[in-house]
Amino acid sequence: MNKAKSFFIKSFGCQMNVYDSNKMKDIFVSHGMQSTNYYQDADYIVLNTCHIREKATEKTYSDLGRVHKKGKNDHKIIVAGCVAQAEGELIQQRAPYVDLVLGPQSLQLLDTYLSDKNSNLKTMTEFDAIDKFDTLKRFKSHTDSKSSFVTIQEGCDKFCTFCVVPYTRGSEYSRSIPDIIEEVKKLSELGVIEVTLLGQNVNAYHGPDVSGKERGLSYLINKISELDKIKRITYSTSHPNNMTDDLIELHGTNSKLMSCLHLPVQSGSNKILKLMNRKHTREFYFEVIDKLRKHKSNIALSSDFIVGFPEEDDKDFQDTMDLIHHVGFMNSYSFKYSPRPGTPAADREQIPLKIQDDRLKIMQTTLDQQQIDFNKKFLSKRLDVLISSSGKFKGQVKGKSEFNQSVAIPGNPNIIGDIVPVQITDISVHSLIGKAEV
Ligand code: SF4
Repeated sequence: MNKAKSFFIKSFGCQMNVYDSNKMKDIFVSHGMQSTNYYQDADYIVLNTCHIREKATEKTYSDLGRVHKKGKNDHKIIVAGCVAQAEGELIQQRAPYVDLVLGPQSLQLLDTYLSDKNSNLKTMTEFDAIDKFDTLKRFKSHTDSKSSFVTIQEGCDKFCTFCVVPYTRGSEYSRSIPDIIEEVKKLSELGVIEVTLLGQNVNAYHGPDVSGKERGLSYLINKISELDKIKRITYSTSHPNNMTDDLIELHGTNSKLMSCLHLPVQSGSNKILKLMNRKHTREFYFEVIDKLRKHKSNIALSSDFIVGFPEEDDKDFQDTMDLIHHVGFMNSYSFKYSPRPGTPAADREQIPLKIQDDRLKIMQTTLDQQQIDFNKKFLSKRLDVLISSSGKFKGQVKGKSEFNQSVAIPGNPNIIGDIVPVQITDISVHSLIGKAEV
């Protein structure tokens, strides 16, 4: 009997790439192949790249050189994701051993490529989100996890001046509600009880319902909530301008919606927000937060911050620190600004690195302290935790609270997959430790 061919997929970057990698995995499996954790053993090696990473393009070429050199003799190499989209045919000019280049909206063509041994597909970077999702739904999902990502929206029309997404993922596209419900239903039949709805601008979602009427994110979340087996729902990543009143109210009324929200603000300075083309002010962000807290007083908030954007002066930085103190975040991602080729801000004069480093240090110290303060509130309290897998240490399991905190629990592997009450006994900056009350 012939040994099944194997594939290796390495996913870089955001949750949407993780979702796309899972879809490529479903396609490989439908062709009778099996996954391997080692590219050295794989017949097909896929690098699903991210363009947000600093020097992403050069890192991709160096990764490609390594896997080509150390992989099996007759392997095929596929480059997918946002670097594939941005570089296109250049990839095969610089790395002629690459067999296929697939942009994020063209990854369904992997099936055509695998089906036809004589396929002449080389570089596929069309923006056809409709074809992508229509084709992908034909493939059976495979998961043994209780928690799953579901992409409901792709692309972005906002054109923040630091961001490559509108160029690599195209303009906004929303999947239809019946399609999404069908996917979530299938996942729930495989045992999934928690879904994270994904989109570059997820709360700009505006897909058609069964009658063709356009609906927003709150409608979709309510529809998913009607599925009994789904116990938790969350969504990411949102833009403040798309936090509509109905979506904000839903945080107070829908018990399956998790008590957390990632709502990036990037800067607390109106001058910098304007230069970033964020199209909102700090005052508007405060208004959204106030409304959210009116409907869900204990909602846990997280954000992204860019430090040292061109023209950021001391006052602008202080405005951001003031916003952080005013809102209080449970955790956040903060980065030094680094230019992305092809974006408007890349050509502007850059802030000296030393100033960026100093500001980032101040910001991260404050954000860490806020996270510790947030976690401390749960000491000796009870939290419902979805136990997702074995923990880092032997005899430990781990999971997520409804506030999206990581919780480690010494004990019983039989509770993996359940939502269990946990008494919190200790905390650190990034996680909690507790005792399951089962
Ligand atoms: S809204 Fe988000 S995805 Fe769109 S351009 Fe701005 S940062 Fe990028």
